[in-house]
Amino acid sequence: MNLILLGAPGAGKGTQAEIICEKAGIPAISTGNIIRAALKNGTEMGLKAKSYMDSGKLVPDDVVIGIIKERLAEEDCKNGFILDGFPRTIPQAEALDAMGIVIDCVLSIEVPDEKIVARMSGRRVCSACGASYHVEYKKPKTDGVCDLCGGALSIRKDDEPETVLDRLHVYHEQTEPLKDYYEKTGKLRTAIGQEEVADTTKLVLEALGL
Ligand code: ADP
Ligand code: ZN
Repeated sequence: MNLILLGAPGAGKGTQAEIICEKAGIPAISTGNIIRAALKNGTEMGLKAKSYMDSGKLVPDDVVIGIIKERLAEEDCKNGFILDGFPRTIPQAEALDAMGIVIDCVLSIEVPDEKIVARMSGRRVCSACGASYHVEYKKPKTDGVCDLCGGALSIRKDDEPETVLDRLHVYHEQTEPLKDYYEKTGKLRTAIGQEEVADTTKLVLEALGL
C-alpha cells in the first residue's frame, strides 16, 4: 500500500505515520526528518535547506523531489510506504505521478489552526533519531530522553511561535490545494485530529481500512 499523509504542520502526521508503519510493516518516510538529518551531517543539501527550514519556508521543489526519488528507489519501499510531509506542493505531486508511482490512498488529518499553534509549543524531537514527542500528549518515559534511542529531546527551531504562523500560512497557500488534486482522483480520505493520539489513530486506521 502506497500512502500519503496530508495535514498542517503539527497535525500529527509523523506520530500517526510511525504507528501505521508498525501496523502495516511499511516504512514511514518523512522529508522533514531526511532534511534535518542532512543538516546535522552537514551535507551540501542540508546546508542549502537550512535557511528555508529555519524561517518556515518550503525547501525548493527540485531538492525535495530529488530526495524522495532516491528514497523510494530503496529496497524497503517495494511493498509500500507512507509519505509524511511529501508532496507539499502541486509540482511535487506531479513529480510523484511522473515517477510512475501509483498512490493508493491520501489521508488528510484535519486540525484547526488554533489547536496547531497550542500543540507546537509543546513539541519535542529527538536530536539523534528524529522521533517526536509532546510534553502533554505524547510524553517520553523519561523527561527529555528519547524512548527509542536514548537521545536528548529538544525544541525544533521552526517550532517557535512566529515561525509556526508562517508555516501555517504556507500550508494553506501551497499544500492545502493538494486536497483538491487528490479528491479528483477519488483517493482522498479525511480523519479529524483528536486531543489524544490513540483517538486519532482509531479514526486514521478506520479511514484506511486497516
Ligand atoms: P511539519 O510537518 O511539522 O511541518 P516537517 O518536519 O515535515 O514538519 O518539515 C519541516 C520543514 O522541512 C518544512 O517547514 C520545510 O522547510 C521542509 N520540508 C519538509 N518537507 C518538505 C517538502 N515536501 N517540500 C518542501 N519543504 C519541505
Ligand atoms: Zn531517538
